[in-house]
Amino acid sequence: MPAKTPSAKTLLQTLRTSFGGPTELDEPRPLEQIVLLILASRSDIRKARAAMLKIESEYVDWNEVRVTSAYELSRWLRPLGAKKAQAKAEQMKELLSTVYNRFNKLDLDFLQKEAKGAAEVRKRERFQTYLQEKSIALHVMMSLHASDRQDVVVVSGLARVLQRLGVLNGKSSTITATRSKLKDLYAAEELVTAQWSFYTLLETYCHARLPDCPACPVLQLCPVGQEEAKKRKADAKKAKAKAAERAKVLAKREAVAKKKAAVAEKKKAAAAKKAAAAEKKRQDAAAKKLAKKLAKKLAERLAKKRKGSKKAGKKVGGRPTKKTAKKASKKKTTKRKVAKKKASKKKTTKRKVAKKKPVARKRPAAKRKAAKRPAAKRPAAKRPAAKRKAAKRKAAKKKPAARKRKTTKRKTTGGKGRKTSRRR
Ligand code: SF4
Repeated sequence: MPAKTPSAKTLLQTLRTSFGGPTELDEPRPLEQIVLLILASRSDIRKARAAMLKIESEYVDWNEVRVTSAYELSRWLRPLGAKKAQAKAEQMKELLSTVYNRFNKLDLDFLQKEAKGAAEVRKRERFQTYLQEKSIALHVMMSLHASDRQDVVVVSGLARVLQRLGVLNGKSSTITATRSKLKDLYAAEELVTAQWSFYTLLETYCHARLPDCPACPVLQLCPVGQEEAKKRKADAKKAKAKAAERAKVLAKREAVAKKKAAVAEKKKAAAAKKAAAAEKKRQDAAAKKLAKKLAKKLAERLAKKRKGSKKAGKKVGGRPTKKTAKKASKKKTTKRKVAKKKASKKKTTKRKVAKKKPVARKRPAAKRKAAKRPAAKRPAAKRPAAKRKAAKRKAAKKKPAARKRKTTKRKTTGGKGRKTSRRR
């Protein structure tokens, strides 16, 4: 059900509570008027006026205010609100700096006077354009302040706001119809406040394309705003539902993707396992083949070697075969037998010879001593050959026991003993 058209009085009261602003444009000079409007924006006009008076008393002129820091200025503006003070000080400083930079003096009196020549007109237009860019409400107020004849200034957008609020008929949106409607709705002393409020509403909330109805202070009094709010609520609900649906779909898709990824991972793992098993099998087969090949080669080499050794055994006497080995052992045994026989024969002959030799007679001690003396002491050349022979014989006779020992030695030492006796 659409909201009832608000009464003009309720509407203005609500707007005034939110936006504050001037009740009249009573400052004699435009610069002071614009400073007061800045201070009164969204604040109580009486407090704004008191703050301006304080600043005027604290500083020599507006140029000193211009060069003062915004922080210092904000100290005098605290009665307007701690949060608003700093912003208002900065806004005031910016305006003073712009005026000074553009006109090289802090004076806006040219706005009141009749423009003399094209340069004056351009100067006034330029400043009004700057103000309009900054704030439509400020631009309208300064236009009203400069003109004594006008009581309502209609700028593009005011008709739209009034139509949305249900104050103005949709069909009558001309400048004249808007002006006459405002004059009909409000008394002459309320027109300044009404214009300030509607223009502030226009530039802050009631934009042409997308009005900020949920935050608008007159939402409860605006039928279009309520419709818009309902629509936005429904849209938000739809968007939320859509987002939830989308999230659901995404979650589903994600779950499917996860499932697919898990299956793919599983498949991949199985394939890797299979590949590893195949690789192991192939390696085992290759190792077996290699081992078989090596064994075959070894067997071939052995067979070749055996064959070669058989041939060599026949020709040179390489590795003896069973037959040749038998022959060789037979030969050895016969040789050993012959050698044994010869040795025993030799022994028996020697024993016989030893038995035949006469036993040595005992010689006198002097002769024995002489015989014991070493033969080398005597010059061998001087001795005759017969005497040497006799001495040898005597020496041989004296050592029968030694010979016997030698024979026993021979028996124990075997071949070596025989060799030594033979040498002697
Ligand atoms: S509620 Fe919306 S349409 Fe109505 S005045 Fe405020 S911003 Fe404009």
